[in-house]
Amino acid sequence: MSLTYESLFIGGEWVAPSSDKVITPVNPSTEQVAGQVPEAQEADVDAGVDAARRAFDDPSVWSGWEPARRAQAMERLAEELDARADAFVERVSSQNGMPVAVARQLEVGYPSAVLRYYAGLAATSEFTEVRPGMFGGDIEVRRHPVGVVAAVVPWNFPQALTMFKLAPALAAGCTLVIKPSPETVLDAYLLAEAVEAAGIPAGVINIVPAGREVGAYLVAHRGVDKVAFTGSTAAGRAIAEQCGRLLRPVTLELGGKSAAIVLDDAQLDLAEIGQGLFTSTLLNNGQTCFLGTRVLAPRNRYDEVVEAFTAFAGSLAVGPASSPETQIGPMATARQRDRVESYIAKGRSEGGRITTGGSRPGDLDRGYFVQPTVFAGLDNNATVAQEEIFGPVLTVISYDGVDDAVRIANDSDFGLGGTVWTSDPGRGAEVARRVQTGTIGVNRYIPDPAAPFGGVKGSGLGRELGPEGLAAYQQLQTIYR
Ligand code: NAD
Repeated sequence: MSLTYESLFIGGEWVAPSSDKVITPVNPSTEQVAGQVPEAQEADVDAGVDAARRAFDDPSVWSGWEPARRAQAMERLAEELDARADAFVERVSSQNGMPVAVARQLEVGYPSAVLRYYAGLAATSEFTEVRPGMFGGDIEVRRHPVGVVAAVVPWNFPQALTMFKLAPALAAGCTLVIKPSPETVLDAYLLAEAVEAAGIPAGVINIVPAGREVGAYLVAHRGVDKVAFTGSTAAGRAIAEQCGRLLRPVTLELGGKSAAIVLDDAQLDLAEIGQGLFTSTLLNNGQTCFLGTRVLAPRNRYDEVVEAFTAFAGSLAVGPASSPETQIGPMATARQRDRVESYIAKGRSEGGRITTGGSRPGDLDRGYFVQPTVFAGLDNNATVAQEEIFGPVLTVISYDGVDDAVRIANDSDFGLGGTVWTSDPGRGAEVARRVQTGTIGVNRYIPDPAAPFGGVKGSGLGRELGPEGLAAYQQLQTIYR
């Protein structure tokens, strides 16, 4: 089914776009057009920022509400999102190729859980604190909302990554202009419908589907007070430069090339750890920023680890995203498939041995599919071990002792996720503490709404989720009394 929208959700209304340009997302499983929406232009961004600005500047609209009242509105929005769960699953997977089983886990339920978590924080957090001063008198510390937020999101988890920004911003009292990625715009319309049904006041949430130039215009807009971005490291650097010039607060969640460290005592029983390995190494067709795509194996168990990952990757069901059995769907775009294939060719030319996958599946004549692929025989200097591929490609690298494993894990331009696999969780946590990364799991990995998520080095600046994620949408004011 192809869906068509003709207006933009700005200022609580469905308004005519400023131009007749359109975005037509393509279903990567079928190569058919999935729908059509207006492509926002600079004039539409101006309208969105104006609406957000007016809503923010009038405290009676949202920013000046008691936090508990905002929490109630957020709870209503969570209910409206849940009521649209099936449609969200369908729209996300038909645009970016996320298997419906994965979308059902992470693109519905999870975003509303994040929203409810921040509704709870809004209702229970202290937004004003009084403490005794060192030099006499009291000090009042106030947590004001930072203002109008520009939220720029990618296509890989469009709803979850929107909510990582939207939920804390709403809890803090901010208003937003959200710019979805052109690949995933139809789910953003469902979000707009939910916002309207939940009675979120006009202008608090505005949505402008557009590409990178219009995104750059939004980031630099004089009416914007804070930028929250998830996407590639290259775009993140450009946005950070712009925000640096403007002295505009910015949160950046960027790329990754994390390590899955298999310790010498790990049990590689796939029946037991298969689901955890899947979530932490190949989730969403390998198009997930935190994946441990460098598998570090003790030298004396190298062949066994290669064999286990080969069996694991080779056993995954590849197919159309709409099929409930599918574990690995297509790459989100033809360009993304080309990129993944060029990395596979590079891995081969640098001497890598492919133990499973390495090409397109023979039985699917449509769609941007790549088989899950495992490389053996490469070290950490290989291009496929250093650069983010953003596809279902793992490289198994050998190490000599735990110090060497930690050294290799840290020998990366990135530091976002990672895992340690061991039969001794205490030892696993000790190793995890030595890895230069924003988040890491022992025998499991999934970003938890209650804990800060984000990266070090080329993986970004700042944190989303947890109380720390709320602080990113607040500015402090101190009053000496
Ligand atoms: P991208 O950086 O090309 O685009 C992301 C979003 O930013 C899109 O909405 C795009 O239109 C917009 N954009 C691009 N350049 C911009 C600019 N200069 N100014 C303003 N907006 C701009 O990335 P992508 O291809 O959509 O997503 C894949 C990348 O995102 C991967 O590198 C992945 O690791 C990263 N990612 C990171 C996280 C995380 O939390 N760290 C999560 C998901 C994806």
